[in-house]
Order: sequence, then structure tokens, then C-alpha cells
Amino acid sequence: MNLKDLLLLRIQNDGPMTVADYMTECLMHPEHGYYATRDPLGAQGDFITAPEISQMFGELIGLCLAQCWLDQGKPERVALAELGPGRGTLMADILRATKGVPGFHNAIEIMLFEASPVLRSIQSKTLQNYKPQWVEAISDLPDLPLYLVANEFFDALPVRQFLRDGEGWRERLVGRDGTSLAFGLGAQTPQAALNERLQDTQDGDLVELCAAATSILSSVAGQISRNGGAGLIIDYGDWRSLGDTLQALQTQKPIDPLDQPGQADLTAHVDFEALAVTARAAGCVHSRLTPQGVFLERLGITARAQSLASRLSGSQLEALISAHRRLTHPDEMGNLFKVLGLYPQHAAPPPGLEP
Ligand code: SAH
Repeated sequence: MNLKDLLLLRIQNDGPMTVADYMTECLMHPEHGYYATRDPLGAQGDFITAPEISQMFGELIGLCLAQCWLDQGKPERVALAELGPGRGTLMADILRATKGVPGFHNAIEIMLFEASPVLRSIQSKTLQNYKPQWVEAISDLPDLPLYLVANEFFDALPVRQFLRDGEGWRERLVGRDGTSLAFGLGAQTPQAALNERLQDTQDGDLVELCAAATSILSSVAGQISRNGGAGLIIDYGDWRSLGDTLQALQTQKPIDPLDQPGQADLTAHVDFEALAVTARAAGCVHSRLTPQGVFLERLGITARAQSLASRLSGSQLEALISAHRRLTHPDEMGNLFKVLGLYPQHAAPPPGLEP
């Protein structure tokens, strides 16, 4: 039975499911889940991410995290962690770029958090020279200063959606309409978690809540605040989400999110305000939300591109110029993608970010 039929059966037996449950099934179902069963990344895949576009991205992230480690007095043992490492490309670029930072490689334990068995096995190949370890839960990260990166990880976490109805909310649910999946609405109920949002929304507005993001970020931020370290959260989204941002991508084109469960990437925009509030509650400081293009320019991507360009010509040079543009230009990823930095009280913010 394919995933769509399994979901239709489940709905018939148990009633409509939340959008979050639907996302979880589509992405992580052990047999049919999108991430659980394939490698979706890269130029031939359904979507392409910054580290897959150019090595410059990971190199600059690596130097940024290593600089935080230097600024914090080179703690002797630290965790260098990545959430949702995809093919391991970003971590490989981080490690190559930081080889020359004296003492850094001796200090790090490389920790990866990855739910997909397929991607785990690709990561173990990409990173075979570095002996990474995988954690099953965020709480299993070693109790050390934590230098962490998450690129396009939080957007893959399941969101619940709520439609404002008077002073209460109706949850958007996935149900069935004959042999198709269809959106519907649950009964009107108050939602304590959305009390704040009664102020900036009107009847008919839709808001999203990502409980998984809050729980993961709270753990990471708590560890950075207690033990030291730094976090770089890079994703698309904005300060405070409003509206339906659930999106399905297949071969780099948008499709209806209910159309082919398990066969398309499903994401929702990251609500950076919710992450920032969670970070503060965990005792951690966060930077200003900064567009990816600005962040990479401040870290010196143009100088790096020029240095790489001096050894290239023809189509390789063109590819480099186009990658630089893609990562930084406001019409491409430069503005859509944002960076939120996490750091302990009394520490300097990560390079490229402002308090
Ligand atoms: N960071 C990589 C990959 C981004 S795709 C890059 O920039 O190329 C999202 C990644 O997060 C994949 O590795 C996916 O398997 C992982 N992921 C998604 N949901 C997850 C979850 N709930 N727990 C752990 N990993 C998850």
C-alpha cells in the first residue's frame, strides 16, 4: 500500500490528523517517508541547499564557529554539532576550512543529529576521515561547550496550523474527501500557546506553531548558555510567521502539499521570533536576525570567491560567479534566508552577526 492509501485508511479509522502529523508521516514514515527513504539533495534532486551550491558557504560557517571558539578562550573539549546534516557536505567544508586553526580539530567531538537512515549512511561516507558520532536525541549531546550549525533543518520540522475564529482557534486538519486527501478545520477551541497572537491577528488569519523546534532549540540554547559555545541557525522564514507557509517541492517545483505524500519535500517557514523567545527563556543571547547575503558578505565571501576565481576559467569560473550570486543576492537566497546566532551571556556574538 502506498503512503496516500495508508493515510486515507488511518483517517477513516481515527479521523482527520493535524498538519504536523501529516508532515511527520510524509517526511519520516519508515517505509515511505521522503527523507527516510532517499537523498533529495543536490542539482538533480528535489531541492538544492547552500552547502550543495558552493564550498564557500561551509568554509565561512566553519571559520565563524572556530572564531567563536578562539574568542571564548579555546575550551579544551567541545562538541561541534550539526542538526540535519544532509549529505555531510556542510560539515566536510567546515572541517576542511578549520584544519589550519591551531588546536581546533583536537578539541572537537563531531556530533550529528539525523533522522534519515539513507542520509546517515551518506554522511558516514562523506565524513569517514573525521569519525563523527550520531545522537538519537538532542539531549544526548555531550555536556560540553556546544558549537552548532543547522542549515535548512528547522523548516523540515512539523508545524500545526491554526485559523483565528473570534477569540479562539480552529486547527487546520488533513481529512479525506472520497479517495483524496483534503484540508478541513477542527472545532473552535482556545489555545493558550497562541494567546500572544490574539493581539496581531484578525478573524480568518492562519498561524503556525512548531513544538519540535521549540523543544530542540530550548535544549541547544540551554547548553550554550551553561557551557559556552555558539549556534548558527540558517533557514528561510521571518520574524513571526503569519499565514500558511506549508510548501511541497518536487524536482525544484512547487506542487500541492496533499498531492503526493512521501514523494515531495514538505517544509514550512521558520518563525525566528519563536526561536528567539525560546533561546532567551533558556538563558541564551541571540543576535539580530540577519539576511544570509549580509552575513556571508561580512564574513568575506567576496574575497574568498576572488581567491578561488584566480585559479579558474571558462565554465568553472562562471559556475563560481553564479554560486556567489545565488548565495548572496537579494533576489536569490540572500534575503529569503536568514541567520540567527546564539551565544552565551557576556560573550561576543559570532562574527558577521550583531547583538
Ligand atoms: N543541512 C543540509 C540538509 C538540509 S535538508 C543542507 O543544508 O544541505 C534537512 C535535513 O534535516 C535532512 O538531513 C533531514 O533528514 C534532516 N531532518 C529532517 N527532520 C528531521 C528530524 N525530525 N530529526 C532529525 N533530522 C531531521
